[in-house]
Amino acid sequence: MVDFSKELAALLDSPHAQWLDTLAPQLTAFKNNPHGNLKRWQRVLQQLPGLTAEHLELSDTIQVGHSGEASDSDRARLTGLLQQLQPWRKGPFNLFGVSIDTEWRSDWKWQRVAPHLDDLNGRQVLDVGCGSGYHLWRMLEAGADKVWGIDPGELFLMQFRAVRQLMPTTWQQRAHFFPVGIEHMPELKSFDTVFSMGVLYHRRSPVDFLQQLKSLIRPGGQLVLETIVVDGDETTVMMPGERYAQMRNVWFLPSAKALSVWLERLGFKDISIVDHNTTSTKEQRRTEWMTGESLADFLDPNDAKKTIEGYQTPIRAVITARV
Ligand code: SAH
Repeated sequence: MVDFSKELAALLDSPHAQWLDTLAPQLTAFKNNPHGNLKRWQRVLQQLPGLTAEHLELSDTIQVGHSGEASDSDRARLTGLLQQLQPWRKGPFNLFGVSIDTEWRSDWKWQRVAPHLDDLNGRQVLDVGCGSGYHLWRMLEAGADKVWGIDPGELFLMQFRAVRQLMPTTWQQRAHFFPVGIEHMPELKSFDTVFSMGVLYHRRSPVDFLQQLKSLIRPGGQLVLETIVVDGDETTVMMPGERYAQMRNVWFLPSAKALSVWLERLGFKDISIVDHNTTSTKEQRRTEWMTGESLADFLDPNDAKKTIEGYQTPIRAVITARV
């Protein structure tokens, strides 16, 4: 059984205590209807060697412990168990010398986003669609007091917990992950910074989604939004057919300027398009830890500017705004 008691206690003692009213029953439902693999993943976590890192080194790779702090047999066990949590999409991590080369170089995204953040020192941060939690650790490194991640992906939850279990205790207490989607969030208005990266195009109603993000931020707080966009002006929005770069659940791809208009209409202030970047097959690629198809398989083999369906290749924009 996945235990959330520590997370819930942390929540009670936070500016977001009101969240408990809706979250507690949702977590009970989560526990009562577990995902098919959850038990197996839970056993993997229980079998991880009892290692706790003394230090955390956060460069581009999140490095927990050193290879010298674990025996060869611990490391072999760690490798075998972490492999059972594949596919590893967001990272990279190095856990006591076990290097997890993930599908995504999530550090590249962080480098594009980090220069544009309001100072995270002492802040309460929410990451909506946090994946394995890679960026949560980077937000803590940047000074955040506490980071909260939400993501309905059960495997991501277990990957996050595997990494956290090995972290120094002081870090463990500052990062929390709840397996819920944004549509289940109350209007807390309590976070200083809310991130949402790589989620907007998965939402069927992107304007409602942006409104929900806004309702989580305290007055004066910052929104950091990253999403796939298309070239075009204020009037350009593209809705692909059934698939976009092989993904089935892609709805609206606005231009960055159109997205700015949406934010303006919702009453966001200080809206700024701070980055525009074509996703490369070096940033998203197949690795030993994600052996399935990746971006190169989703692009037109004869024209890298197009997806396999003939659409514009994924370009990602970062937009910041204030409430
Ligand atoms: N933010 C990370 C991960 C992006 S992948 C990054 O930028 O690297 C998109 C994530 O959104 C997935 O982990 C997926 O599970 C999550 N997601 C999908 N629907 C969601 C919803 N309704 N609420 C919150 N997260 C969602």
